[in-house]
Amino acid sequence: HMHGPPYKKMKVSKNLDRKKDVSTSFEYHKLCEARRKLPIYPVQNRLVQEVRRLNTVIVIGETGSGKTTQIPQFLFRAEVHRGSQIAITQPRRVAAVTVAKRVAQEMKSELGKLVGYCVRFEDVTSESTRIKYMTDGMLLREAIIDPLMRRYSVVILDEAHERTIHTDVLFGVVKAAQRQRAKKGLKPLKIVVMSATMDVDHFSEYFNSAPVLYLEGRQFPVNVYYSCCTQSDYQFAALVTLGQIHKQAPPNHDVLMFLTGQDEIESMVRFVRDIGRSLEGQAPPIIACPLYAALPPQVQLRVFNRTPPGARKVVIATNIAETSVTIPGIKFVIDPGMVKARVFNPRSGLDLLKVVRISKAQALQRTGRAGRESSGSCYRLYTEQEFDSFKLNTVPEIQKGDLNIKRMCSLSSVVLQLMALGISDLIHFDFMDRPSKESIITAVDELHLLGAVEKREKIQLTALGKQMAAFPLEPRLSKVILVAKEFSCLEEIMSIVSLLSGESVFYTPHKAREEALAARRKFMSTEGDHISLLNIYKTYKSVGGNKNWCMENYIHQRNMKTALDVRNQLREICDRQNLPFKSCRDDTVAIRKCLTAGFFMNAAELQREGTYICLSTRRPVSIHPSSSLFRSKPGYVLYNELIQTSKCYMRDLCVVDPDWLYEAAPSHFKRKKLPT
Ligand code: ADP
Ligand code: MG
Repeated sequence: HMHGPPYKKMKVSKNLDRKKDVSTSFEYHKLCEARRKLPIYPVQNRLVQEVRRLNTVIVIGETGSGKTTQIPQFLFRAEVHRGSQIAITQPRRVAAVTVAKRVAQEMKSELGKLVGYCVRFEDVTSESTRIKYMTDGMLLREAIIDPLMRRYSVVILDEAHERTIHTDVLFGVVKAAQRQRAKKGLKPLKIVVMSATMDVDHFSEYFNSAPVLYLEGRQFPVNVYYSCCTQSDYQFAALVTLGQIHKQAPPNHDVLMFLTGQDEIESMVRFVRDIGRSLEGQAPPIIACPLYAALPPQVQLRVFNRTPPGARKVVIATNIAETSVTIPGIKFVIDPGMVKARVFNPRSGLDLLKVVRISKAQALQRTGRAGRESSGSCYRLYTEQEFDSFKLNTVPEIQKGDLNIKRMCSLSSVVLQLMALGISDLIHFDFMDRPSKESIITAVDELHLLGAVEKREKIQLTALGKQMAAFPLEPRLSKVILVAKEFSCLEEIMSIVSLLSGESVFYTPHKAREEALAARRKFMSTEGDHISLLNIYKTYKSVGGNKNWCMENYIHQRNMKTALDVRNQLREICDRQNLPFKSCRDDTVAIRKCLTAGFFMNAAELQREGTYICLSTRRPVSIHPSSSLFRSKPGYVLYNELIQTSKCYMRDLCVVDPDWLYEAAPSHFKRKKLPT
């Protein structure tokens, strides 16, 4: 039995036991066999019948029951798609990619042929693609071009329980397309909504009382242990818990630990490997596998490998592992009860990443991951009282601004996309759950300030707004790209925007932090991080993307390559819009003025005490220590994002002249300068 920080054994979930699962294998025949054992299999015919008969069906089934990988294949084999495409949406790009790979393998088809995927900046489909996995955002963008979604005969909205802004808006858009097609006498649009949680009455109601198919779960009992006292450091608690499991549990009892993001996961992986080394000979060898969105696909796929006999796999994942992917072999789950969420405050217009508590539904999902193949245990690193205070369900992002929850995702990019779809009356749009009027107004105001919409008798997109909607970026960044034409610096702006829209290109290993900072110092500009990034980009190009150069300068080569790829794709969009690809050479004033045109609402002013305040909100903010401006403290700066940790930090900064701010948005700054 377990010792160490005491855990109370609380309850044992009901035993819905079936026969023990056969181990999943990559060999094809075993793969087919495993598929026949999935809970989805017995309902195959009913599902097909219902979709044929009724056009809309809702499917509920535990994670791992085969919804995402099998349902598209069933519909395809039954020819419900009638020769055209089946779209399956995923809230996360990783899920879209890994699942498409898996299904291509199951159908013995080369990826991009019969089975493909389409995510932001990457389209792996062809003429022959019939099953297309894609992110919600991509389908939404396609709907801008064709609101009737003529290309598809079936749209499967997966992971509906996640309730991201994109899924929520898609519900409305897909429902409208279905209705319009029926009205025009076109081929019907079939909709399948899939969810891992039971709270679906709402979905059914929204889709005109669509029938709900419940898949019989295959869940083994999971012992749930709560922490006896509040943990002040969940990462430390997680590590201690893992150490105890590792010392006592038999080999091949794998562990899944939930953390909130890349940094946390990478440092935990190092600690876990250290534990493995220090216990060599006394405990099974540890295979530590990180899993988060930014990880290269080959590394992500490692979590699916069966653990070799005698070893222990420890998967350290973000909430991707909650419902989007199923990892074999897990016996133990360590749940600190935290998640990183993009949160937004409609009053201040700030969009930031914050570590917040999970909901009860999420805690339940995490627990369930320990009982997929046999019984298991879940260690909750919070007390039962704390659990009682968790929210019941994940609040839909689109509504997070309401009530007192204070923050939500920025609606402005959704509002822009909806307007491009021709939906201008947002207050009356058929949202499944309506965002507050206040947050819609904040979003419209931002778009108005950016010049994307104008207020005539009704609110409508401007020519600039229409162009902005063509870019898969936050409206502020699209604006920066579009004004680059006036400053003749699109070449430079493209490089900067591409580097900003992906993962950091700085590679800062734990053990060589000082060396990394010193090596990169030569690129740092006194004008800020955007110009520093540009310096790095230019040098990288001049050395031909040389690997040694990247290593010597602690530049992340893969992220750099990704950024280049993003740049090419943004460039294609620019070409389609006839934007001239001009270079301003070393005129950094042009570049910084251009950035000001998109980010003027993120301006901060140095105060006499040496601190900053945000000009739009009058809130105190600080320069993030990673910025090249951390020491110099210029009078006025712009920032790309705010990060709330111990303080409210500005990240990715640029030095600006207050006159430029005024020129970029006279009405905004006139209003803000008035004494309050
Ligand atoms: P659901 O969508 O209901 O959560 P999935 O269709 O994603 O279920 O998964 C069904 C089963 O297929 C899982 O139990 C898992 O064992 C297997 N599986 C899915 N993706 C992979 C993969 N990339 N590698 C190996 N096995 C996988
Ligand atoms: Mg799924």
